[in-house]
Amino acid sequence: MQRDWRVGDFAANTCRRCRKLVRTRFELRTVQLARTRLCVRDVLVDVCTECDHMVSIPPQSLPQLREAGLAK
Ligand SMILES: [Zn+2]
Repeated sequence: MQRDWRVGDFAANTCRRCRKLVRTRFELRTVQLARTRLCVRDVLVDVCTECDHMVSIPPQSLPQLREAGLAK
């Protein structure tokens, strides 16, 4: 089982922009859903500490996105 992440936690993940393994930090961001214009505020996401790119959205944040209308 993967533990729940919290704001300020650090992890390691592969950043698509840096194209390497980077240190990432969990922050609350406004996420724009890919297929809609809907923006979801205060979503916990994994952010690259080198280029500030959003690397990933942890599974624990997905229900929040679904509720906002990602899934029908
Ligand atoms: Zn990066």
